[in-house]
Amino acid sequence: MGRGRHKPKREKRKPRMEGTRKCRRYWKERELERGEEERAIRDRAWQLRLTPIDRTKLHTRSVMGSFGVPCFVGRYYLDWRFTCRDCGKAEVWTGAQQKWWFEDAGGEMEQIAIRCRNCRRKERERKAEARRVHFEGLERKRRMKAEKS
Ligand SMILES: [Zn+2]
Repeated sequence: MGRGRHKPKREKRKPRMEGTRKCRRYWKERELERGEEERAIRDRAWQLRLTPIDRTKLHTRSVMGSFGVPCFVGRYYLDWRFTCRDCGKAEVWTGAQQKWWFEDAGGEMEQIAIRCRNCRRKERERKAEARRVHFEGLERKRRMKAEKS
């Protein structure tokens, strides 16, 4: 058995001494390999329809990550399956929707979907109605005060 032929390729490129030309070439090659890996990951992500995360656009109040982004935040948004808290409907929060919510709508990383589309709309209407009633009440009180004096 010829030793050289059966050796794995990578072992041949191991640096022998720090600072030698061989060593620099080794790291250059590793860099290129890493670039190819990155490209492969990106291609795969595209095939799987993963949505890349733009970390610079994320909004967070979290203290978990050292740079303001929580440590659980990876490279891609993954489709998120959940059951609606109000009606129990199973729904998917897609990566693209998450990207829009976190990066364009300014949603915070700690916020996640808990209600289906329908119940979200109902909740929004309920909140708007509650706000309207609240301000009407304030207005009534203010008027009553004004009438008394
Ligand atoms: Zn629902």
